[in-house]
Amino acid sequence: MVENGRRQTAKTGGGSNAPLRLSVLGASGSIGASTLDLVAREPDRFDICTLTANTNAEALAAAAIMVRADHAVVADESAYECLKTALSGTGITCAAGPAAVAEAASRPVDMLVAAIVGAAGLAPTLAAVRNGTTIALANKECLVCAGDLFMSAARASGATILPVDSEHNAVFQVFEQGNLDQIECLTLTASGGPFRAYSLDEMRVASPEAALKHPNWSMGARISIDSATMMNKGFEIIEAHHLFPLRQDQIEVLVHPQSVVHGMVQYSDGSVLAQLGAPDMRTPISHCLAWPRRMRTPATRLDLAALATLTFEAPDPVRFPALRLARAAMAAGAAASAALNAADEVMVKAFLDRKLGFLGIAETIERVLARMSASGDLSEVRSIEEAMAVDSVARRVSLEEIAGMTH
Ligand code: NAD
Ligand code: MG
Repeated sequence: MVENGRRQTAKTGGGSNAPLRLSVLGASGSIGASTLDLVAREPDRFDICTLTANTNAEALAAAAIMVRADHAVVADESAYECLKTALSGTGITCAAGPAAVAEAASRPVDMLVAAIVGAAGLAPTLAAVRNGTTIALANKECLVCAGDLFMSAARASGATILPVDSEHNAVFQVFEQGNLDQIECLTLTASGGPFRAYSLDEMRVASPEAALKHPNWSMGARISIDSATMMNKGFEIIEAHHLFPLRQDQIEVLVHPQSVVHGMVQYSDGSVLAQLGAPDMRTPISHCLAWPRRMRTPATRLDLAALATLTFEAPDPVRFPALRLARAAMAAGAAASAALNAADEVMVKAFLDRKLGFLGIAETIERVLARMSASGDLSEVRSIEEAMAVDSVARRVSLEEIAGMTH
């Protein structure tokens, strides 16, 4: 379970007067920037150890200087010289390469914000988990690709996993551990994305620009496309299953275009507890940073009278087949979930590169998973190495499928 019984012992942003020692993986991204915005508003509350980014050394250096980090790491080795130059004279140390990212992640801190996008986040986040570090987890791919291994590593080390993802953070806020046996189901809400009201014909010719324009949230490219297909919500079902001890059939999805109610838990007495808030990731991020207390954020305060109407509808399985694919992968097993993520990463990139139409994303992922399940057992992953092996096979098969379509 999320908090792993360490509520009393895990050091958090509000629990003591000493600043919270914090590292941020993926500091140059959308979640990273929102985290650093909160840090910059209350600099005395935080002591920043490491920031990492993939390629953008200049942005990373600027962020490291702004929050007075000790160390900055860029995953792309060719960006090292640029990072070193940008940090010269600041006293901030730096390094480059995936191994340096994992090394930085394993440095002792009170909390690590895991905000790398994609399967690339798994190894470094796991390094921190194995150290027993409290994780503010945005990188849902850790749970999609290797959820059982990730959560059992957390149990073994005593690491507390706090969900940043807004729906899971909402559920976490209203999840009564003491009444676990009285929980009937939880609901993850989905905005429905930019194509919620599109016909299939309109979706077929939808452009990357249109798909990237999320109606309510400002996010990185991959999760924006995943929101348009609703694969993001599919991943979130898998994520919820690992964070909260519930069966797949107890995890429901409801389309809620206003993105005000983020998640709900239904109890045996008929009560439904929900968390509401403006769609601003600084609210769930701050909830993790300050947990078990709270901290002030500049998020817009809800004006329900002005909003007047909150609406909910069931997701359309015909226009959004990604939800079905995710549930099927989850039922098939851990390797199928890892393959689903890898295939999705490849298809989203192909769509952004205009090599694949919008509906082709889910159609091709389905073919990749069918091919992989026909050629082997997708039920288990016994190690991170196995999860990564499934990931690379799925990427290869995905690229073959795309190449086959264009020839
Ligand atoms: P983003 O694309 O804006 O940023 C991704 C970050 O990861 C960047 O700092 C980038 O430099 C880094 N990165 C990318 N590839 C890397 C690699 N190979 N090695 C090391 N670093 C790498 O993405 P984002 O929107 O901030 O999302 C980050 C994670 O948080 C994703 O897993 C996403 O699903 C999750 N999440 C995001 C939001 C949101 O509102 N943006 C909400 C919920 C969950
Ligand atoms: Mg979410």
